[in-house]
Amino acid sequence: MIKDLLPRQVVCTVKGAKGKPCHGGLKRYHPFATYYNEPDPDLKNKIRNEFGEDPKLILLKCETCKAVYRLPEELRAKFQQSV
Ligand SMILES: [Zn+2]
Repeated sequence: MIKDLLPRQVVCTVKGAKGKPCHGGLKRYHPFATYYNEPDPDLKNKIRNEFGEDPKLILLKCETCKAVYRLPEELRAKFQQSV
């Protein structure tokens, strides 16, 4: 699952089995970096199809339910400057 990060969003909004939002923390995530590889091949394929296999690609991942979020353009630029 790849979701769009909403403005000012800081926690995960995926709804769980009981309809409650997950509220997990979102961590910066580099799916194709050498020191961190996405272990789920389906998810990896989805990311590759959408973004290409870019070792500098930065997404966010929920620490609780593992949902992946696209960064808005301005946040992506900011993160890439600080790497
Ligand atoms: Zn979550």
